[in-house]
Amino acid sequence: MADDSPTLHMVDVRGQYARIQSEIDKAVLDVVQSGQFINGPAVKNFTLALGEWLGHTAAAPIHVVPCANGTDALMAALMALGLRPGDEVITPSFTFISTVEVIHLLRLTPVMVDVDPLSFTLDPDAVANAVTPQTKVIMPVHLYGQCADMTALQALAKQHGLTIVEDAAQAIGSTWQSPDETWQSAGTMGTIGTTSFFPSKNLGAYGDGGACFTRDAALAKRLRMICNHGSKQRYEHEIIGMNSRLDSIQAAILGVKLPHLADYNAARRKAADRYDALLGDHPKITLPYRHPRSRHVFHQYTIKLGAKGDGPGLRDHLASQLQAQGIPFGIYYPKPIHHQEAFTDLPSRPPELPVTEDLTNRVLSLPMHTELTNDQQDYIAGAIRRALASYL
Ligand SMILES: *Cc1c(COP(=O)(O)O)cnc(C)c1O
Repeated sequence: MADDSPTLHMVDVRGQYARIQSEIDKAVLDVVQSGQFINGPAVKNFTLALGEWLGHTAAAPIHVVPCANGTDALMAALMALGLRPGDEVITPSFTFISTVEVIHLLRLTPVMVDVDPLSFTLDPDAVANAVTPQTKVIMPVHLYGQCADMTALQALAKQHGLTIVEDAAQAIGSTWQSPDETWQSAGTMGTIGTTSFFPSKNLGAYGDGGACFTRDAALAKRLRMICNHGSKQRYEHEIIGMNSRLDSIQAAILGVKLPHLADYNAARRKAADRYDALLGDHPKITLPYRHPRSRHVFHQYTIKLGAKGDGPGLRDHLASQLQAQGIPFGIYYPKPIHHQEAFTDLPSRPPELPVTEDLTNRVLSLPMHTELTNDQQDYIAGAIRRALASYL
């Protein structure tokens, strides 16, 4: 590596911490000294603050139910809906494993469909084609920080009497402009929305964490019970639940970070604009699409290499060149879920998902976080150009 190469990270959690260290240290110490490690006041304060942040009002409430991680949030959401084994849940195959895993764990049937070639999020036409009398839920994933087409999905849900569970693990702070022109927060448009506070997410804890969002007070109560062994009152268990809590130290850390979230997302958008400017003219690069109705919060900045139908050759060449130069990158995701070994015995094999297959060969995500500097981005863009020029 050249001597002038900057230290690069895919996500710079330590750099971000350094800016708010005294506040974080105090918040953590307060919890330690209080001795209230489980369900302390920090948990309640943070969940109320997050509800407000997402747009809670007395007229249009948003209930935030905290839990241990984003996967549990998805699990709790599906458990709360009173579904029966064999009920079908339509979801993308181009996602992180959690989304499909929880469907399977609950003996529901995942019906994986293709994504839109521009936004890489659930394709509403593919959803419409997959609806059967067994379909109960549509589970869009707001991939990379941008909302799936909620207007189209809400119309389908209404038409067929389906429930929407939004996986907003990557999209906290993203918004979608509904037909009445108002902007709604990712995770607050479906019957239930979920998010993750995994450290690398846009609102990251210093460990695991997650939450469900809902506008339905009765569902919020049910979600709280599910995350607490199906219990409202100690040693009284009305329904089957699980043990899934956001611990007080994580909640205290998130409480410090939440007031910075708008700035964090703005910093990511600014970095994304700059990557666009640095790479936009390259014939082998397709920049991330920005849907006019969604505000993108760039959990990932993901470029697409080469042309439709190209194999993984160019992307893999770029990946190995970046690796050789110590430039971090990610491939989200290299293998569709319906090709994962764990999912080979699905009740019904998904048909061909051509967009999904194409994307798994061509996507590559660049370093994206709140601490990226212009120099770092220049260096990364230069390395990408050189690597692409050396592909034979
Ligand atoms: C991160 C993520 C999850 C799971 O969150 P965890 O907190 O790691 O359990 C679920 N879905 C998507 C799309 C994610 O990116």
